[in-house]
Amino acid sequence: MTAVSTLRRGLRGLLRRLDDDREVVKTEREWRDQLTPEQFRVLRSRGTERPFSGPVVRPDASGMYRCAACDAGLFRADTKFDSGTGWPSFTDSEPGGVEMRRDFSMGVPRTEVLCRRCGGHLGHVFNDGPEPEGKRYCINACALERGEAADPRS
Ligand SMILES: [Zn+2]
Repeated sequence: MTAVSTLRRGLRGLLRRLDDDREVVKTEREWRDQLTPEQFRVLRSRGTERPFSGPVVRPDASGMYRCAACDAGLFRADTKFDSGTGWPSFTDSEPGGVEMRRDFSMGVPRTEVLCRRCGGHLGHVFNDGPEPEGKRYCINACALERGEAADPRS
């Protein structure tokens, strides 16, 4: 199989997935092909980027921060605040955009935040955010980086 036909098949599959409203499901190999090594480590292996090390992330034209892996809308720009932690922080998530899971990996219970559409690990949510919500969604910047998801083969 030539590289071109492999690429074509990959793009067709990607477009088919974007057309569907179902959850995005890919193999580990497909994710490795699409994501940067750091994004793969965070999104697919539940890693955490070093604070202040992530890219500067920006919302799309509608004011939405999107999943770097599947482009799902996750957080609105008007919920972003400066937590001083070195990670993008939000007071709230887009309804239906994320799901929560209990995480005991550090010995103390935490609440992991995942992208509902592709299951990618985004970060954690804590109860020490600003009032009135009191929530602090602490999210890895590379999981929100724009540009990779739109054309992963470029
Ligand atoms: Zn996603």
